[in-house]
Amino acid sequence: MEPVVEACEKTEDAGRLPVIEVKNLYKIYRVGETKVYALNGVDFTMYKGEFCAIVGTSGSGKSTLLNMLAGLEKPTRGEIVIAGQHIEKLTENQLVSFRRKRVGFIFQSYNLLGTMNAVENVALPLSFQGIPKKKRLAKAGKYLALVGLEKLARHMPNQMSGGQQQRVGIARALAVHPQIIFADEPTGNLDSHTTMDVLRLMQTIVREHNQTLVMVTHDNHLATYADRIFHIIDGKIVKIEDNRRRAGRDAEECADPGKDEECADPAGNEAGGSPVESTDREEVR
Ligand code: ADP
Ligand code: MG
Repeated sequence: MEPVVEACEKTEDAGRLPVIEVKNLYKIYRVGETKVYALNGVDFTMYKGEFCAIVGTSGSGKSTLLNMLAGLEKPTRGEIVIAGQHIEKLTENQLVSFRRKRVGFIFQSYNLLGTMNAVENVALPLSFQGIPKKKRLAKAGKYLALVGLEKLARHMPNQMSGGQQQRVGIARALAVHPQIIFADEPTGNLDSHTTMDVLRLMQTIVREHNQTLVMVTHDNHLATYADRIFHIIDGKIVKIEDNRRRAGRDAEECADPGKDEECADPAGNEAGGSPVESTDREEVR
């Protein structure tokens, strides 16, 4: 299986700028007596300006992989090189700074602060960059407008629909202008119509800003919005599908990320993935 992936990467992606390089990545958890290979030897490269979907059933290792890429968890072994930097070698403090500078997150449950209105929520990550309050709010307002919510700037999260809250979440992730945006089941709590809107929005924004978006989903149909689809089964990437034509642009257009095209497929089902939680599990060291 793996040689096919390798060959595909080398021929089709020559000349593109790598942003995330994963080499021989393992994450092994111990559950009682047994070892769980949440990631079982993963290799791939993701590029600047790409929308990548990681798709697999519940328990296949999607969230584990995303958490490793975002520097939220350490791999058991293997390498993760992001924009030339080996993140598996960074200390906790260095990881915090890496995430603040380079990474934006979009969560399934939005994770907005209930005590702050929309514009304040979007402005929050900017406070870590030492930007003065007035400037922060102005910038946050700009990103709210980008996701079509300028009129709801003073609304509290509980005064907005799920789709609106997720748009605030997207604006917040984008406000720091991260190189990479990670989204774990971002439409998992939305109805199918809103799901489609949110996916199109993410697709358009990432293309316009030439960022890299990595979205995890258990829904094959949602993955068709992505430029490439990484299929994960039992902690292994078994197939990398080039979906650029179907997602509304071909290889040439990828070189011109300013161009936005209609996407080919409407989104399907309401999603509802749930990561497996555990209280008494330990990582194998
Ligand atoms: P997905 O996001 O695709 O549903 P996960 O990455 O959450 O899958 O989990 C992959 C596998 O690793 C599952 O078998 C899960 O039970 C296991 N796993 C995830 N997190 C832990 C943990 N903290 N301790 C032990 N096992 C875990
Ligand atoms: Mg998960």
